[in-house]
Amino acid sequence: MRIATRAATFALAVLATGTLLAQQAGPAPGESLSQSYRGSQARNVEYQKIAPFKVMDNLYYVGPGTVAVWLIPTTQGLILIDTAQEPYVDYIIDNIRKVGFDPKNIKYILLTHGHLDHFGGAVKIQKLSGARVGLSAADWDFMEMGAAARAPKAGDEPPKRDLVLKEGDTVKLGDTELKVYIMPGHTPGSVTYTFTAYDNKKAHKALVFGGPGPRNGVDGGTEFLASVERLEKQFADTEVAVNVHSYLNSYPYSNGGILERRDTAAKNPKGPNPFVDNASWRQWLKEAHAGAVKYIADEKAKADKGKTN
Ligand SMILES: [Zn+2]
Repeated sequence: MRIATRAATFALAVLATGTLLAQQAGPAPGESLSQSYRGSQARNVEYQKIAPFKVMDNLYYVGPGTVAVWLIPTTQGLILIDTAQEPYVDYIIDNIRKVGFDPKNIKYILLTHGHLDHFGGAVKIQKLSGARVGLSAADWDFMEMGAAARAPKAGDEPPKRDLVLKEGDTVKLGDTELKVYIMPGHTPGSVTYTFTAYDNKKAHKALVFGGPGPRNGVDGGTEFLASVERLEKQFADTEVAVNVHSYLNSYPYSNGGILERRDTAAKNPKGPNPFVDNASWRQWLKEAHAGAVKYIADEKAKADKGKTN
């Protein structure tokens, strides 16, 4: 029954995407589908509005193509990971309804980091649901600093400081627990969440790496490398990488992004779930590790060049 439901959801998603692709532009030559949402079609709002789809028993993709918004239903309400930003917020709210849930039942909005493309919808969704909004102290600061510096447009305001998440915290809702780890490097306090995702009732280790690319020069790069090393040491056994973007420009996901995996599942709905893939996660960690080492070296060279000039 669950397989059938998943198959139907995927079939619908593919149908809707197919219709859109027929009407709109597709990936540029040499671009993968996931890549097109952050590349040639990054500003094509209608193209971005992909159909939501079910990934696991307790994991749904409800975001636009460019940035992931994940819905985790529990026995006591809903958890939303990130919110995307305008002009996608009403579409996300609608997507939650489309996959069969009431957005008013969102109890937690857990942010991965303080960049606008991830938190922009938090104010509106919190207003609608009364959900608690969670983020690390360092990224609450970072988000507020950023907003103060750029005077956000209406709809881009950060949420008011609410739940301050700390290393080792557990967010518990009904039958679901998410563990919280602070992994800086992309931002000062990017948050990683782990939880158990179920595929046809079979438990799998799922992980949301909240800041999957280095920023901010040598300091950020060094923090990022430490975060990747921590993932390698503590979380190499992750089976479901719950990625915050379908495609990453810095270190593309081996074996396809979120949308390639969606399409693989649609083609073979009775086959193994392509989102359960520890080998790709390990491969990505290797690439992110090497990438971080190179990023730090490049940033050091830039800084040294600045000194001699
Ligand atoms: Zn970011």
